[in-house]
Amino acid sequence: MIVNMHETATENEIQHIIDRVREAGFQPHVTRGATKAIIAAVGAGGRRHEIQALEAAPGVENVVPIAQPYKLVSRQTKPIRTVVHVRDVAIGGNDIVVIAGPCSVESREQILSTAHAVKQAGAAMLRGGAYKPRTSPYEFQGLGEEALKLLAEAREETGLPVITEVMSTEDVDLICEYVDMLQIGARNMQNFALLRRLASTNKPVLLKRGPSATIKEWLLAAEYLLSGGNPNVVLCERGIKTFETETRNTLDLAAIALARELSHLPVVADPSHGTGKPVLIPPMSRAAIACGADGLIVEVHPCPERAWSDGPQSLTFEAFQQMMRTLGDPMRKLAALSTEEIALGGSQDFKRRGVSAD
Ligand code: PEP
Ligand code: MN
Repeated sequence: MIVNMHETATENEIQHIIDRVREAGFQPHVTRGATKAIIAAVGAGGRRHEIQALEAAPGVENVVPIAQPYKLVSRQTKPIRTVVHVRDVAIGGNDIVVIAGPCSVESREQILSTAHAVKQAGAAMLRGGAYKPRTSPYEFQGLGEEALKLLAEAREETGLPVITEVMSTEDVDLICEYVDMLQIGARNMQNFALLRRLASTNKPVLLKRGPSATIKEWLLAAEYLLSGGNPNVVLCERGIKTFETETRNTLDLAAIALARELSHLPVVADPSHGTGKPVLIPPMSRAAIACGADGLIVEVHPCPERAWSDGPQSLTFEAFQQMMRTLGDPMRKLAALSTEEIALGGSQDFKRRGVSAD
């Protein structure tokens, strides 16, 4: 943190800040300009709030944070990228990991047929909600333990590791008996009791970004998990609330790229909740991968029109299979590269790069 002193600050006021920075557990680094002094509070383990409070001290103009408030999730702390292992699936490694399945587990037939279909199409993990966060209390709330048993059965049959959402600390032990990865839903991103509880499990966690959460708040939520002892965290961008009404949410692609800059944790995209529209899921999946996403989580249902939750945004087996075929497609070529223009001499840009067919 940087403490900027006022032009009129006296020597005594500057010395007082230097002493307070030391008392708060940091080393003070003082720079004296022609008119002002700046005191940097450097080091880890100090009490940041005490430095922040110095804004109220005489002679201080303002206090500006220089380091990010999250530490363990930061790439400054750990420059090497984290790979999260869910059984034999590595998220954050060389391969794009696709997690697919229904919004909610509805029946044995539904989850088993979906598990086989998504596996055949190339998914590496199966998703399925057992406890559903629904906006209305009158909507389907999930099959609970019955759904967990069906997910475990689907894993036995297909070998796909399974993920489900945990909504309450009360359900954690039971859910951990059945599944391989725990999802913290968007609405629970800042449920600090739940974060603390999941920090003490040995299951990897998929942490969805809250619909109104800033990237900093999202990373601080992840910090709860890491600082509580669980290093196996995958961030998930699932769209945020904006003024737009044509899409269910606005999938924040910049957040995917930025989260990977700021943090060493893997990041996956959820284009299903991020757009709410099946037609947008393949292009936004490709876009997310182009932005650096380590994987995708996509809703797939055997018959979306009969789904008990999120049917309108679910892909059919065929649509999912089709999408998977296009994920590895290279981006469209630059127009000039694919035309005879190059043979004719190319644009200035290409000449600069030494591409010329003269
Ligand atoms: C879900 O994955 O079905 C879900 C409810 O997601 P979110 O928490 O992102 O709304
Ligand atoms: Mn859903």
